[in-house]
Amino acid sequence: ATLLGFLQSLLDKEGVSSSAGKFWHISDLHLDPDYKVSENPLQVCPSAGSQAVFNAGPWGNYLCDSPWVLINSSIHAMKQILPEPDFILWTGDDTPHVPNEKLGEAAVLKIVERLTNLIREVFPDTKVYAALGNHDFHPKHQLPAGNNSIYNQIAELWRPWLSNESIALFKEGAFYSEKLPGPNIAGRIVVLNTNLYYTNNEQTVGMADPGQQFQWLEDVLTNASRAREMVYITGHVPPGFFEKTRNKLWFRQAFNERYLEVVRKHHQVIAGQFFGHQHTDSFRMFYDDTGVPISVMFLTPGVTPWKTTLPGVVNGANNPGIRVIEYDQATLSLKDTVTYFMNLSQANAQETPSWELEYKLTEAYGVPDAGPASMHVALGHIARDQGALQRYYIYNSVGYGSPDCEEACRVEHVCAAREVDFDAYTACLRNSGASPAPKLALPLAALLGLCTLLVR
Ligand SMILES: [Zn+2]
Ligand SMILES: [Zn+2]
Repeated sequence: ATLLGFLQSLLDKEGVSSSAGKFWHISDLHLDPDYKVSENPLQVCPSAGSQAVFNAGPWGNYLCDSPWVLINSSIHAMKQILPEPDFILWTGDDTPHVPNEKLGEAAVLKIVERLTNLIREVFPDTKVYAALGNHDFHPKHQLPAGNNSIYNQIAELWRPWLSNESIALFKEGAFYSEKLPGPNIAGRIVVLNTNLYYTNNEQTVGMADPGQQFQWLEDVLTNASRAREMVYITGHVPPGFFEKTRNKLWFRQAFNERYLEVVRKHHQVIAGQFFGHQHTDSFRMFYDDTGVPISVMFLTPGVTPWKTTLPGVVNGANNPGIRVIEYDQATLSLKDTVTYFMNLSQANAQETPSWELEYKLTEAYGVPDAGPASMHVALGHIARDQGALQRYYIYNSVGYGSPDCEEACRVEHVCAAREVDFDAYTACLRNSGASPAPKLALPLAALLGLCTLLVR
C-alpha cells in the first residue's frame, strides 16, 4: 500500500493521476446581435447606449457587448483547447445591455436559443449545466419565484442536457441538480437561480425563501452528505460584494446572510462554487467561526468586453475570458484554474482572433492547488505583497487595465475576496484590509469554563 501510495503521489505530481478531470466554465456572453463595424460612432452597437464608439473592430469593442463572431470564436477556441471536457458550466447573461423596450420576451428567448444551439453544435456530446442570468429574462432582473412561460421555454431548449426531474424543477424556479456525468465522477452539481436574491429583482421583495430554493438546497446538500457525494454549486449572481467599488452587495442582505449560513453548515460536502455576473476574474473566501478557510467561490470573467456603467466603477471593461477548472474526479477537490483570453485590441489590429493562455492559478500565486486553504494563502499574498496584488489586479480585468492598484483599490479587492458577510466586510474596510486578529474565541471560552469550575 505504501509503495502504491508513493507511486500515486509521483503520478499526482506529474499531473497525470487517473482521476484528474477538467471542465469549462464560461459566463456572460452577452450577444449584441446589432453590433456592426460602422464609421459612424453612434451606429456601432446599441449596448454602448449614447456613448460614441470610435475605431470599432471586427471582434468587438470595450464599450459594446459581444458581436456574434466573438462568441462563435470563444466557443470554437474551447473546442480547440480542451475538446472533451467532463462537462461545461455556463452561468448565463446571454443578451445585450439595452433597455427592456429594445428587447422583449421573444428577442431574449431567440438569443438564449442561438447560444444554446451554438454550444450544442460545437460540443454535441458534452453535458452542459446552464444557469439563467439576470439578463436572460424579460423584463430584465425580474425573474419570478414560480412558474412562467420563459422558464418553460428555456427548460425545453436545455432538455438535451437535463433529466426529466431537473426539467420539471427548472420550470418552477429555474434551479436544479444533476449527478455529474460518467462512472468516474463521484459528485453532483447544483445549479441555483440566485437572480431571485438580486437587489434589482422586485419580484422577490419581502419573501423569506423565494421558490423555497434555500430549503431545497439544504435538502440536496443533506442528501449528498448521506450519499457520500461531493457537490459543486454554480449560479449567476454571486453573494458578497463587488470588488471594483465599495459597499456594492449583489444579494439583498437577508439572502446574503442565509447563503453564508448554508455554506457554513454544509461546507463538508461543498467542493467548489462557480459564479459569474461581475465579468471580472476574482474569488470569494468562506471561513468558519474560528477563521479556518472552509470553501472558495471562483468568479469567472465574462466573454463580453462591455465596460460597466455601474456608478463608482472606473475603467470597468475586460478582455474576453474563458476558463478550464482542473479537479479530482474522485473527490471533486479543486486542483487549478487555467484562464484563456483574447486580447481584443490586438485581435482587432491583426484582424485575426487568437485565444491564448492568460495564467494558471497555482503558478501565478505559488500555491499547490485551488482549494480553500491554498486560496487563503493566495489571498494573503495579494493582501501583503505588491507584486502579487498587481498580478491579481491585471487578471481581474483579463489584462485590460493597468497594474496600478493603490491602497484604496487594494482594500476594496482584499475585503471583497475575504468577507462575504456584510458586517465582516464593513469591519474589513475599516481595518484597511488587515488580517483579522487571531481568534480568541476558543481559548477564552475554555478559560471561562475553567474559572467556572474553580468557582464551584
Ligand atoms: Zn453580465
Ligand atoms: Zn448578470
